[in-house]
Amino acid sequence: MRKRLYNKVNREVLLEELKKDTTPRTTISFYKYAKIGNPSVFRDHFFILLDEIGTLGRIYVSYEGVNAQVSVPTHHVITFREKLNEITFLENCRLNYAIEDNGKSFFKLAIKVRNKIVADGLDDKSFDVTNIGTHVKADEFNALSKDPETIIVDMRNHYESEVGHFINAITPEVATFREELPIVEEMLSDKKDKKLLLYCTGGIRCEKASAYFKHKGFKEVYQLEGGIIEYARQVKDKGLENRFIGKNFVFDERLGERISGDVIARCHQCGGPSDDHVNCANDACHLLFIQCKSCAEKYQHCCSDECKDFNSLPNEEKDKLRGTLVFNGTRFGKGRSKFKQPLLDSSREI
Ligand SMILES: [Zn+2]
Ligand SMILES: [Zn+2]
Repeated sequence: MRKRLYNKVNREVLLEELKKDTTPRTTISFYKYAKIGNPSVFRDHFFILLDEIGTLGRIYVSYEGVNAQVSVPTHHVITFREKLNEITFLENCRLNYAIEDNGKSFFKLAIKVRNKIVADGLDDKSFDVTNIGTHVKADEFNALSKDPETIIVDMRNHYESEVGHFINAITPEVATFREELPIVEEMLSDKKDKKLLLYCTGGIRCEKASAYFKHKGFKEVYQLEGGIIEYARQVKDKGLENRFIGKNFVFDERLGERISGDVIARCHQCGGPSDDHVNCANDACHLLFIQCKSCAEKYQHCCSDECKDFNSLPNEEKDKLRGTLVFNGTRFGKGRSKFKQPLLDSSREI
């Protein structure tokens, strides 16, 4: 019998299973740009390899490489590393370990073949994607970020930088990475002689962005190696100054890792201090937004009264109405704060 290469059980059942499972798990992310001749064949091979040791997570495979966020049973982390090392282009690739990990980051394994491992909207043939910016480590990042000639740019989206970012960083008001590249280029068009210091969650977006900005004439381009995740690890291990405030948004069930104690965002419903991202409890809405504990209670984990009322209906009523109602978010909706960016302590150099 052919081995099953996909998960077919639905989300709720898997989530329940994960909640009950007490196996300690480690959340790891990694990426590698590499030429993969047949992504579909590689995908099936990779699935078997990782499924054998109970790996969960979301992985994209394409002709240009692999981008992975996974959760591995902690007792299999060494085997996991060995399995990756058996694959030539993944040998000794950097693994980013989660900073704040409850082991509940993923509830299934999904490996998808895509055109690209990051949706950047770029035509890779139009510029040299290998001419990337200089990688910097946490201490070099700190030094550069204090240089008045440096412009720090957050290469993530508005809902990510809303809960946490580097001191003095430009945080563009964008919903996608694709949208961000031309906006940043335009915004800094007269500053191409400055030092451009880029960062993102795990480093992957900056690999392409740094090459793109160099192609567009920026003279000195730097990128934070391993992104915020690796920065936070180095800060902790080496006792360095931490220049990242708030939470690092992550694309898994945890939705964020706390890096500093500062809460820099506000609840989208009452405006009170909160940096807890949640998805609206109404599955027909599923809006991603920030909700404080008291609003979570008041709205029963929904984004609005409308969603709360809908959610309290019997299932058959819901099924009848589903599709006829429009809610705040679609399945992939991202909420925007109606409140001004949080008022930070004026002594902070932001
Ligand atoms: Zn609130
Ligand atoms: Zn909603």
